[in-house]
Amino acid sequence: MGAVSTPVVENTRLTAADRCDRCGAQAHLRVRLASGGTLLFCAHHARAHAEKIKEVAVRLEGDTSLLS
Ligand SMILES: [Zn+2]
Repeated sequence: MGAVSTPVVENTRLTAADRCDRCGAQAHLRVRLASGGTLLFCAHHARAHAEKIKEVAVRLEGDTSLLS
C-alpha cells in the first residue's frame, strides 16, 4: 500500500441527483476511495482537486477528462 496506482475508470454518466460534496453543484465525477468511501465533485472542484483525487482514488466514474 502507499504506492501510486492507476485507478479503474468507468465512463458512467452521473445523474442530476449526484451533487458535489463541496458546493452542491451537479457532480460530474465520482471518486471511490480505498477506504470504501465515495466523493462527488463538480467540474470546478474536480479540476481544483485533480492531483489529490488521482492520489487517493481506486476507481473513477464519470467525466475523468476533468482530471487531465
Ligand atoms: Zn463543487
